[in-house]
Amino acid sequence: MTNKEDIRNLYDAWWNNRTPEECALHYMCYEYEEEYFEDMLLKDDSLLNDIIATVSECTDGIFLGIDGCLRLYIVDDSDFYGCYYGNECKIEINRKYLTDKSVILHELIHFYEHLLEKEQKPFIRELLVLELYNKLSTSIPDLKEHIFKHCELYSYTKTFQESGEHGVLFFLKSLDLDIRCGFPLGTVCGYGRNEQF
Ligand SMILES: [Zn+2]
Repeated sequence: MTNKEDIRNLYDAWWNNRTPEECALHYMCYEYEEEYFEDMLLKDDSLLNDIIATVSECTDGIFLGIDGCLRLYIVDDSDFYGCYYGNECKIEINRKYLTDKSVILHELIHFYEHLLEKEQKPFIRELLVLELYNKLSTSIPDLKEHIFKHCELYSYTKTFQESGEHGVLFFLKSLDLDIRCGFPLGTVCGYGRNEQF
């Protein structure tokens, strides 16, 4: 990721030049952040609640999410649904999928995972994997087998490999969002994952 000052400058320039549609998308992402990402934001009473106080003492504090950081662009004529550019801290959404909640959530998972990677120690992500697994295993039968299948496909599917990181944390969080949004399992992950359930 570009340094924080650069990110902030890019964000300020983007904020001043947002189109009305990008502005609406921005507010929608704020709502999704509030509604669905409390665990990845390490908020009080979320999945990692027991260690959050310790994390706050060990680091410069807990990051605050998309505010002052993430830029959102609506693009035409692209061959993707959406795309997250980690180093630039920006998301592009294909105009055709602007109203597809699962596409927006998919890209936001990439963003929060990347922030966790950059801002926190690896054990935070590892603990989140454990806690999400425990949470989801009560409602998804054969969760472990689904994870193995996901990783197997991940290794062998070229398209999937070239389209950003979709590891175990990504997969689990996408299933969590499927359940919370009432989507068929595999919808937020995409890439045909709904066919495996
Ligand atoms: Zn992706």
